[in-house]
Amino acid sequence: MNSAFYEILGISKEVYDIVTRCEEKCAPYFKKVENVSKYNQARVLKAFSECRISDTHFNFSTGYGYDDHGRDTLDKLYANIFGCEDALVRHNIISGTHALTTAFFGVLRPNDVLLSVTGKPYDTLSDVIGNSGEDGNGSLKDFGIKYDQVDLRDGKIDKEEIKKHLTNDVKAVLIQRSKGYENRVSFSAEYIGEITKFVKSVKKDVIVIVDNCYGEFVNKCEPTALGADLACGSLIKNPGGGLALTGGYICGKKEYVEKCAMRLTSPGLGKELGASLGLTRGMIQGLYFAPFVVEQAVKTAILCAEIFETLGYEVNPKPSDERNCIIEAVNFNDKDALIAFCKGIQKGAPVDSFVSPEPWDMPGYQDQVIMAAGAFVQGASIELSADAPIKPPYTAYMQGSLSYGYGRCGLMLALNELKKAGII
Ligand SMILES: *Cc1c(COP(=O)(O)O)cnc(C)c1O
Repeated sequence: MNSAFYEILGISKEVYDIVTRCEEKCAPYFKKVENVSKYNQARVLKAFSECRISDTHFNFSTGYGYDDHGRDTLDKLYANIFGCEDALVRHNIISGTHALTTAFFGVLRPNDVLLSVTGKPYDTLSDVIGNSGEDGNGSLKDFGIKYDQVDLRDGKIDKEEIKKHLTNDVKAVLIQRSKGYENRVSFSAEYIGEITKFVKSVKKDVIVIVDNCYGEFVNKCEPTALGADLACGSLIKNPGGGLALTGGYICGKKEYVEKCAMRLTSPGLGKELGASLGLTRGMIQGLYFAPFVVEQAVKTAILCAEIFETLGYEVNPKPSDERNCIIEAVNFNDKDALIAFCKGIQKGAPVDSFVSPEPWDMPGYQDQVIMAAGAFVQGASIELSADAPIKPPYTAYMQGSLSYGYGRCGLMLALNELKKAGII
């Protein structure tokens, strides 16, 4: 006789019933996500065929890495899927922050201005820009590259303000697709296309750089297919499909990608060098899986939204909202509830399920932070994870899950912790 589902995980039947009832309500939202995923899988398959992917691309190079076919073809795959001229996809782009940094230094020169038109950029970029770091750390500011910002207005770009700030010195405009850890909406590729059109109508030659982290494959195309000059991201998020062990990408116009490559390696060397050390197979196979894995993560986020909205918490985005990134934010308005949630998510991890996350003073953050993560790839947030600064309104940011089934287990375990703590 098989055990009941909830007995396997050691959760209460009541928690199980809440989740299954919520799941039924998600069906129409899931359908939309599945349709995007099917569309993107067709696009990816077509790219694999057009790039004539074969066994030889999984070979690995050492030393200088001259004539590394796999590496060069991986660039072509990304360019094809991102609807742009060229791409730089490398294991030695160590993170999303590094990809963005490489793009900034690739195209900006002393006295140029970088203008963010979507408000404050992602946390890790303030040291890069030079807004928080000490002088002398090699920030843009250190090199005489200036920064300016226009905040969002009612969740949209502020066109009038942008017009005022798009002065002659502005060489590049930064657009952040995902809300990250800000309280706003995430933008669709389509909306980023509109922003791009608008800023170029004000200043024709401005270079549009998109922080594309967490947004890849959530829509049916990427911002580079709609006019953005460069898009940057991390391979341990969406486009690595859970299989890339490390890495980042920069996609876009050939001229600019070339400049980024000169910055990543050396002037004169550019894209021609760089040993792949056997990492190409995971990056190619991960890209193949990425639309499907993103579908799993987005469904997990929708289920999370439905569950906590049903329980009376404020969630962003709402279950029925259009999805433009994989993050789900839940306001617990209570420290204990937030901590219980993170502990439950940790219990749902395949790795380190036995550890209990605790709030700690993380370098670079003002408030204590709690993080639930147990991933095959360290820090990979395409795998189920949750993190939160310990401050009102006690918001947990949950993202990822390589499979919906596992994500659903994680949410059940999280709910069970809330129940055990007497919160629900
Ligand atoms: C994750 C992320 C980054 C970069 O983060 P890394 O940890 O350096 O990969 C930048 N912007 C956004 C919106 C992100 O989500």
